[in-house]
Amino acid sequence: MTSRRIAIVGAGQSGLLLGLGLRANGYDVTIVADKRAEEVRSGPLLSSQLVFGPAIALERQLGVHFWPGDVAAVTEISFTAAVAPGAPEPAIAWSAGLAAPAQGVDQRLKVAAWMTEYTRRGGEIRYQKATLDDIEGFAREFDLVVVAAGRGPQFERLFPRDDALSPYRQAQRFVAALQMRVPDDDPIPASLRFSQSPAGEVGIIPALTVEGRALGMGLFAVPGGPMDVWDGVSDTEQHFELVRKLLRDQFPWRAEIIERAEPLSSLRGRITPTVRHPVGTLPSGAKVLALGDTAVTNDPLAGQGANLAAYAARSYASVILEQGDRAFDEGFMRASFARFWTVGRYATRFSNDLLAPPAAHMPALFQTAQVVPEVARRFVGVFENPATYTEWATDGTAAMRYLEEARARARG
Ligand SMILES: Cc1cc2nc3c(=O)[nH]c(=O)nc-3n(C[C@H](O)[C@H](O)[C@H](O)COP(=O)(O)OP(=O)(O)OC[C@H]3O[C@@H](n4cnc5c(N)ncnc54)[C@H](O)[C@@H]3O)c2cc1C
Repeated sequence: MTSRRIAIVGAGQSGLLLGLGLRANGYDVTIVADKRAEEVRSGPLLSSQLVFGPAIALERQLGVHFWPGDVAAVTEISFTAAVAPGAPEPAIAWSAGLAAPAQGVDQRLKVAAWMTEYTRRGGEIRYQKATLDDIEGFAREFDLVVVAAGRGPQFERLFPRDDALSPYRQAQRFVAALQMRVPDDDPIPASLRFSQSPAGEVGIIPALTVEGRALGMGLFAVPGGPMDVWDGVSDTEQHFELVRKLLRDQFPWRAEIIERAEPLSSLRGRITPTVRHPVGTLPSGAKVLALGDTAVTNDPLAGQGANLAAYAARSYASVILEQGDRAFDEGFMRASFARFWTVGRYATRFSNDLLAPPAAHMPALFQTAQVVPEVARRFVGVFENPATYTEWATDGTAAMRYLEEARARARG
């Protein structure tokens, strides 16, 4: 048991997992939430989140993995790529299994259930949309203030962009997430079906949403390309019709799955990938620490955000525990982010690289994956464990050498 008091601003993926982790270790935790659980549950779509094995393992460890059999587990990634926009067939197609099942549970369900569970376990929630002044107040009242208020410019003066770690000044995709109901007799394959073309990408997963079993789809349009045609789309019906058209035009081999679907909810926008200086200085001089998207916002294309938020929550919880009764000072905050960044930087690089025009060795990597299962498995492994995104995938010379060795192994 400890007498240390910790405030977390934001009851989302990272804030709640950190709060639950600290409660489990006897900390006195206060989460500041701008919405009640029921408002979140009945509110707008938040993400299309697919969560991989390591994040699910954390949920299990904290006793908040509440949906184990309620949605088909995603056990593999099925990858297709077209070389030109509008190609009728993919030039590359392969599938590879994940090391552990992934799952697509609507974040609205998760956040609402976790808020309730956190309160049941003795955690306090204060309902308010925290301002900078409020955060000043928390810094006086608590031993540590963690800001986990999601992406966006809200606290950008407190946590300025880190130019050295943020290669993009603008959003690199228009992001369009959609959830659909499919007839009960339509099978939803247990895979993340990920397709790319020079026009953009689409990812399709089985999902559990507030309306029940569903199909989740994220569509990512390259700015100025043939899929970047979202001006004037303002509701889910229009969104659904446009997705149908874009799938038929750009990914016809993926279009059939939604022919019998009905739209449920949608979300559209552009996200500028940004890494921020994670230690904020308040006007009083007090320091606060950023967590999750507030510290590192990636484009959702690589599906890393919620996974990284879970990882960050676990990492911060362990550093807080190790700190014992010592002060949560600036040095502690810098060390907390540095520990998280040992993994976070790989997820961030992977996310940013997927947004860029493919490096010269990537076509060879994807072609080899088609005939050498080891290569496909290794690439799929990056989604669940981004720290494996190293030279074999990022450096042209190392990648070509690895592919040659993998081909030789496959030949026996
Ligand atoms: C379209 C889309 C698809 C995505 N798909 C995936 C995916 O497949 N896989 C994946 O891993 N990630 C995905 N993500 C990313 C993922 O949703 C985020 O990275 C993740 O939710 C970040 O968690 P967080 O705790 O930092 O922020 P959030 O989950 O956004 O939580 C922040 C919370 O803080 C609250 N808040 C904000 N301001 C205040 C304030 N001033 N006072 C009090 N409370 C406040 C917000 O209401 C919210 O509840 C996707 C995102 C989008 C937009």
